[in-house]
Amino acid sequence: MNCIFCKIINKEIPSNVVFENDKILAFHDIAPQAPVHVIIIPKIHVSSANEVNENNSNYISEIFIAIPEIAKKLGIDESGYRIINNCGKDGCQSVGHIHFHLLGGKMMSESF
Ligand code: AMP
Repeated sequence: MNCIFCKIINKEIPSNVVFENDKILAFHDIAPQAPVHVIIIPKIHVSSANEVNENNSNYISEIFIAIPEIAKKLGIDESGYRIINNCGKDGCQSVGHIHFHLLGGKMMSESF
């Protein structure tokens, strides 16, 4: 499968890892949109939010369990942050492996 995030999981492509366990991986975004911009992914190929189901939802919950720890590690737990998932064409999803953007380190815009 020609998935760039699967290649990052398999260390075929380098990434700047922030957090990793057996189920998930978090790494700095290559084109950060905020002072802190981390991508968090499950270590199984799930294409998008449309493909989340009872068989893979434990990977998604693992992401949300890790978010407080990742935010603390990056020093944005107190100041706050935004978590974004883009799904499909209208959501402007550009990588077809479900991922959550963790953005912080500045005041976010109130509009989308
Ligand atoms: P999205 O537009 O929601 O699909 O977000 C994909 C994100 O992945 C973008 O913010 C990209 O900058 C980021 N990205 C793509 N390739 C890499 C890479 N090799 N390493 C780190 N981040 C990447």
